[in-house]
Amino acid sequence: MKPETIAAQALGWIDEQTRAITPPIHMSSTYLRDTDNQYRSGRAYARADNPAFDQAERVIAELEGGAQGALFASGMAAATAVFQSLAPGDHVLAPKVMYWSLRNWLMNFATNWGLQVELVDMTDAAAVRSALQPGKTRLVWVETPANPLWSVTDIAATAALAHQAGARLAVDSTVATPVFTRPIEHGADLVMHAGTKYLNGHSDLIAGVLVTREDDDFWKRVKTVRAQVGGTLGSFEAWLLLRGMRTLYLRVRAASAAAQRIAEHFAQHELVSAVLYPGLPGSPGHDVAARQMRGGFGGMLSIRVKGDAGSGEAAAIATAAHVTVWKRATSLGGTESLIEHRASVEGAGTPAPADLLRLSVGIEDAGDLIADLEQALRRAHA
Ligand SMILES: *Cc1c(COP(=O)(O)O)cnc(C)c1O
Repeated sequence: MKPETIAAQALGWIDEQTRAITPPIHMSSTYLRDTDNQYRSGRAYARADNPAFDQAERVIAELEGGAQGALFASGMAAATAVFQSLAPGDHVLAPKVMYWSLRNWLMNFATNWGLQVELVDMTDAAAVRSALQPGKTRLVWVETPANPLWSVTDIAATAALAHQAGARLAVDSTVATPVFTRPIEHGADLVMHAGTKYLNGHSDLIAGVLVTREDDDFWKRVKTVRAQVGGTLGSFEAWLLLRGMRTLYLRVRAASAAAQRIAEHFAQHELVSAVLYPGLPGSPGHDVAARQMRGGFGGMLSIRVKGDAGSGEAAAIATAAHVTVWKRATSLGGTESLIEHRASVEGAGTPAPADLLRLSVGIEDAGDLIADLEQALRRAHA
């Protein structure tokens, strides 16, 4: 079956007891022990596992082409579970340009915990090769396209380098989604999603997802971290996530088509100095993205706003203040389009230029979004 069919029918499961087309929500925190003191159902306590997760985990594992999936309480809980499954002293590579909260956690907590975290330009194979320490580097973390510049990393090339050095490759594929990229097909060992974003797609829950290529010992450690640290998703959130994934392909393709139109419209605009979007021919990551992303380049882009005396910061903030259709909020991947001045969110040390506005394109009419951003840019420069 094609992924569109798998997603739309959530793998076609029917509730065996009731013949319901959508699953019930299991709310129980605990499970009955058998009279002989065993747990033959395989479940004991819902911090470790929950039947409310089964269907969503199998759907996302299927869409990513992996062996198993696991739901987490947030994207951060999913990502940090991977790093917490490593041992103190292990060396890991992460990108210089990446999701800001995870970068902060890596620099402030993972290092305290004994991991040797090294940030590299993940778009530069030579830099990755020279940073790898064979036998000591255990994990390479990739995000593509990466916040907030939408830089593109070649997953297959990076996986080959990581594997030569004896390291695993994990990919934060939140922005690409399985609609456009299936990292496991390109050699990744683990795929991570903020389920909060496109997988759910309605800005109404926080969730995280991991998918593994193989049910190996490392995956068992990751599942143990979830069970013991407790970054476990709630049952209702798991149900909402499954519902959101049914429309994943429609939503993500619509958002990507609109993002492409918006990027092309503003690429030559007199009030915009640059549009950062891998779908624009000539943009730094375009060639790799065109090979690695199938059918679109995603719904995320950034624009750099021109300003007086060479500084677009004030003009960018003023532009965000004047939009009405776009909503001024952080996050991404919902049905409604969001705009934010990213440097304000990230603070000191951010790679985001001060004149950059990050745009998450939703599924509204692209013409409405273009017209609103046009009038906001003009009012900011009036
Ligand atoms: C949002 C996001 C995360 C973190 O997910 P949460 O659910 O907010 O914890 C990680 N990576 C990327 C690319 C994201 O956009």
